[in-house]
Amino acid sequence: MRSASEARVNRLPSPRHAPEYGTSTAITRVIREMASRDGEDIPYLPLFQPSKIVRVKNIAVLGSTGSIGQSTLAICASHPDRFHPIAFAAGSNLDVAFEQCRRWHPRVVSLATEPLAAKLSARLGAAGITGIEVVHGTAGTVRVATLPAVEFVVSAIVGVAGLEATYAAVLSGKTVGLANKECMVAAGDLILAAAREHNVHLLPIDSEHNAIHQCLRAGSAAEVKQIWLTASGGPFRNTPLDAFEHITPAQALKHPTWVMGQRITIDSATMLNKGLEIIEACRLFNLPPTQVKVTVHPQSTIHSLVEYIDGSILAQISVTDMRLPILYALSWPGRVASKEEDGLTFNMAALSQLDFQPPDLVRFPCLRLAYEAAQSSQNHCIALNAADEVAVAAFLRGQLSFNGIPRTIEQVLALTSAGSPSSIPEVLAADLLAREQAAEIATGSHVLSS
Ligand code: NAD
Ligand code: MG
Repeated sequence: MRSASEARVNRLPSPRHAPEYGTSTAITRVIREMASRDGEDIPYLPLFQPSKIVRVKNIAVLGSTGSIGQSTLAICASHPDRFHPIAFAAGSNLDVAFEQCRRWHPRVVSLATEPLAAKLSARLGAAGITGIEVVHGTAGTVRVATLPAVEFVVSAIVGVAGLEATYAAVLSGKTVGLANKECMVAAGDLILAAAREHNVHLLPIDSEHNAIHQCLRAGSAAEVKQIWLTASGGPFRNTPLDAFEHITPAQALKHPTWVMGQRITIDSATMLNKGLEIIEACRLFNLPPTQVKVTVHPQSTIHSLVEYIDGSILAQISVTDMRLPILYALSWPGRVASKEEDGLTFNMAALSQLDFQPPDLVRFPCLRLAYEAAQSSQNHCIALNAADEVAVAAFLRGQLSFNGIPRTIEQVLALTSAGSPSSIPEVLAADLLAREQAAEIATGSHVLSS
């Protein structure tokens, strides 16, 4: 439940009322009045206030060497007249970071550690590439996210490692394209409060939330009955349950429809990814978990749906390519024509079959655990994500079975006390505690207290 004052703050314009271009406080006022007509409590929806299209957007890419980061740079390469990447943050992939520096000549680049940053500086120097500030660590990612010349930050570091930079980007008034769902799961309320305070737009890049964002443009918040997140079901949708204990990392890393980073691919196989997305959707669209449904749709053709109170259901269909939601987020509130050679056009003529089935919560306990965490408390959402991150790493190292992932998460959730951190340091402390518990449980060194 939200307090009356929170509900008032949450009354923001619905997409239907938002004009496409131009900024005007008068328009904003009218929109606010329309959104709160007759004292009706219209809950918060994505920040659809008027904004102007910037011809050339200076972009920071957090997680530039990853799957989403590289897709973002591919979009920038296709639209050099509009999107200009000027700052990068990456972890430890020195070779890709170096190539990106050579190709894009960013003003600032950050790597995870000081030794990595020193190596990159040396390689840039040896190659005669000058004028790039090389930084490192969390402070480095924050520097990249808050660079004054940056207008749009793509948040695509994997895990809670991306939280502080994402939060800093919001605090410094940057528009944020959110791929990093973990930071919304761990600190969604804090990020949204900061976004409201600093009048910042958050544009979802995660394909399901991006689809919901698009479908919400057809109605108002009060007209939404519920939303449907589609899930491919992953590679083990039809695998016999007794084979789950012996699933190997190599099998789990083969996603049927998407090519992604390692953690999200494993999370898709356990369906914890959909669980994180349920919580992400609750935060972004201010919906209770009961209004966020999941349907298994193996073709990954429909990326999600919004069901309105009159019975209409709107779906978003497109190719399974993350460059499209990235292009949408970078272009919002307008749309930019995709380049034919990028292959982002959906072939309607080839569309033959769309299947849907309810998710199997016995086969995929991670989905049940995510619903339970969403119903319990913010601390439980933090623990869910942290425990999963640790458990997935242990599974990939061969130290934990596939079924050990939900088992570890469930035990960590059982140890978690209800609560809601009121600052990012408190979020990180709760995250650390859950990580330590998960590491003990995953390695079998956890002793149950009597
Ligand atoms: P990835 O593993 O391919 O890339 C992760 C990026 O984060 C890399 O650039 C890595 O160097 C960087 N990184 C890791 N630790 C870091 C640290 N400590 N400091 C700085 N940088 C660090 O992951 P991905 O698939 O690109 O996913 C990125 C995020 O986007 C995740 O939160 C994921 O859930 C989300 N997402 C991804 C997809 C997809 O299709 N890949 C779709 C939806 C959402
Ligand atoms: Mg997704």
